[in-house]
Amino acid sequence: MTAQIPFVDLKAQYAAIKPEIDAAMAAVIADCAFIQGPYVERFETAFAAACGAAHCVGVSNGTAALTLALEAVGVKAGDEVITVAHTFFATAEAICALGATPVFVDVDAATATLDPAAIEPAITERTSAIVPVHLYGGPCAMDPIMEIARRHGLKVVEDAAQAHLADYRGRRAGTLGDAASFSFYPGKNLGAYGDAGAVTTDDPAVAARVRSQRDHGRRSKYEHDVVGANHRMDGLQGAILDVKLGHLESWTAARRRAAAAYDARLRAAGLETVRPVDGGTSAHHLYVVTLPEGVDRGAVQAALAEQGIATGVHYPVPCHRQPALAALNAPPLPVTERLAARCLSLPMFPELTDAQVDRVCAALIAVLRREAA
Ligand SMILES: *Cc1c(COP(=O)(O)O)cnc(C)c1O
Repeated sequence: MTAQIPFVDLKAQYAAIKPEIDAAMAAVIADCAFIQGPYVERFETAFAAACGAAHCVGVSNGTAALTLALEAVGVKAGDEVITVAHTFFATAEAICALGATPVFVDVDAATATLDPAAIEPAITERTSAIVPVHLYGGPCAMDPIMEIARRHGLKVVEDAAQAHLADYRGRRAGTLGDAASFSFYPGKNLGAYGDAGAVTTDDPAVAARVRSQRDHGRRSKYEHDVVGANHRMDGLQGAILDVKLGHLESWTAARRRAAAAYDARLRAAGLETVRPVDGGTSAHHLYVVTLPEGVDRGAVQAALAEQGIATGVHYPVPCHRQPALAALNAPPLPVTERLAARCLSLPMFPELTDAQVDRVCAALIAVLRREAA
């Protein structure tokens, strides 16, 4: 039987850091520091430093992080928020949760991120913010996006759920807009052992607002300044994330090495691969190829699966085509729709070896030759 190449390998990662993780979990349990508390605070300080942000506020998941960040920068019911449809559904959901309306614009075909040229035609008097999504770990073209936002008085909240330690012109994701949201879903580059997320910002008022909102609008144990909610991070997740953050630089470097190996093999074979914007360095949450027009993606996936190679599609149905958002009557987005039909995600995780990358590339190239014949 051929050896399997999984899509991600969380078991291999746990095996490599088991003593550290087990000790961290035992400490939280011994202290009964289950909700927020010192382990979450320690992680917040460390993650803010890792991003180069002034503040990090740990929350319950990445979707809540985006909603809380948008709310904190002033987005309210009735507003329009410009974002992309080529993203995980949660991006749109977080906007809708505030009673605001997502206005979807197209992406750039080569980088799969928000096309800055699409923003201005979508601005109306109701627009209050832009949510650029650093999809697959590749930062958006933030200089032009921020320039447009400043000119129109719009706030910018990065959806950095896939982009821990991604770099844009010497600054990291999470510091490029007015605020940013991160997800620590287990499969993300920095993954908890359950749900978790965070907001980063340089603005102390935004951080204070999120800190209050995530914990019932509390000023003190029994005093509530505003009606908030419960979006707190667990102590166990804080402790686990703090341990894993210590490895994130080397894991990210390993992802970048694997991505460079994929790039070299696949581009030499004439395949189109999603690349970072000018000045951007991806965190390579996913490694995505754009299959040639007309290729049957399902057949390619099945042929690779037969050889033990797992693949994914991120994302087959863009947000503006989701049944849940049909009432928006969103106009067509040609680049998004083409990309959604043709994108294919290959195995990508820090433990991926050069030999595995070679096997995936050889198999994909052979399958596509057969498909084209
Ligand atoms: C994972 C993800 C989210 C949501 O994060 P959760 O922690 O699962 O709530 C939001 N946006 C993008 C782009 C994501 O990949």
